[in-house]
Amino acid sequence: MAQLNVQHVDKIYDNKVQAVFDFNLDVKDGELIVLVGPSGCGKSTTLRMIAGLEDISAGHLFLDGKDITQTPAKDRDMAMVFQSYALYGHMTIYENMAFSLTLRKENPNVIHKKVLAAAEILGLTSQLNKKPSQLSGGQRQRVAMGRSIVRNPKVFLFDEPLSNLDAKLRGATRREILLLHKRLKATMLYVTHDQTEALTLADRIVCMSMGHVQQVGTPLELYDAPANLFVASFIGLPPMNFFDATVREGSLEGKGFSVKLTEEEKGILRGYAGKEITLGVRPENVEEGGDIAMKVFSNENLGMNTLVHGHIGGGEKISGKFRGWCNYKAGDDAMVSFGRKHLFDKETGNAIRKGENA
Ligand code: ADP
Repeated sequence: MAQLNVQHVDKIYDNKVQAVFDFNLDVKDGELIVLVGPSGCGKSTTLRMIAGLEDISAGHLFLDGKDITQTPAKDRDMAMVFQSYALYGHMTIYENMAFSLTLRKENPNVIHKKVLAAAEILGLTSQLNKKPSQLSGGQRQRVAMGRSIVRNPKVFLFDEPLSNLDAKLRGATRREILLLHKRLKATMLYVTHDQTEALTLADRIVCMSMGHVQQVGTPLELYDAPANLFVASFIGLPPMNFFDATVREGSLEGKGFSVKLTEEEKGILRGYAGKEITLGVRPENVEEGGDIAMKVFSNENLGMNTLVHGHIGGGEKISGKFRGWCNYKAGDDAMVSFGRKHLFDKETGNAIRKGENA
């Protein structure tokens, strides 16, 4: 069992930089949480405070109901996997994996069993007598995970563990981490700046910007119902398109487009009659065929889809992800329509939701 509760946590560094503001999170037993956001948004600081590697300036941290805010890192029963692997070059893989248990003076037979079991899970059984320099980047990353597994910690913490791997290996190692999570049923917190990693790995995502949590939810919630413009533009690749639009009777009017509102959207926008809002449309919801003229400036064939970039009426940029292989040339007009719409308050940047503006 490992439930983690983070309550009203702030971090102010000695140089007075506030890196984290009022962070709150209840992590359920066995949950895989991914903290995601651009570089400098405070994800690593948050993870390091949870690990006990940074002091908490304000707030509290509970592990299984016990206040561990002041507990030293070594007594927190958490294991951290770093981007840099931090393996000992002069030790064999076996010794690296056994190291923390040897330090704790565990029974050698117990250590042996644990190392073999972890090696088996990670497919490292035949590598145990080698030195780290004889292993590939992906294998070294697995050794770093093995070192955590042998300790059987309550919580696994990952700080950008895939950043040093090439794209292909990143995908494969990501799937291994997912399998590992399923197999160990462990509580895990994982930090990344990569929204794809967040969408593919997380049970729930915590999306951060400038030290503030922007939204907590399942990958689908963040993708389908982003809470604000930040989340809408950060989650999803290529990013969502945004346009200024005025709310009219039954339609949204922008430069170069007029789109009908559904009955549901009319209800949601009741309080916005005559006002300008921000309309968000994901590239996959910009559909070929329709009455919106898009002046094309580039065409990228991805195989199954084609990414077509251009601008509409007022010069606003737009990207469409069209099905199949398209051959637009710079200067062509593509006629498009908007599928699923995302509506945002222009002043606050927050999503305009059902029942919130009645
Ligand atoms: P992320 O992991 O999202 O890239 P960090 O948590 O590393 O972000 O950093 C958040 C903010 O805190 C940044 O503005 C960074 O410059 C600042 N920061 C990080 N570590 C320190 C430190 N030791 N002293 C002062 N400021 C720091």
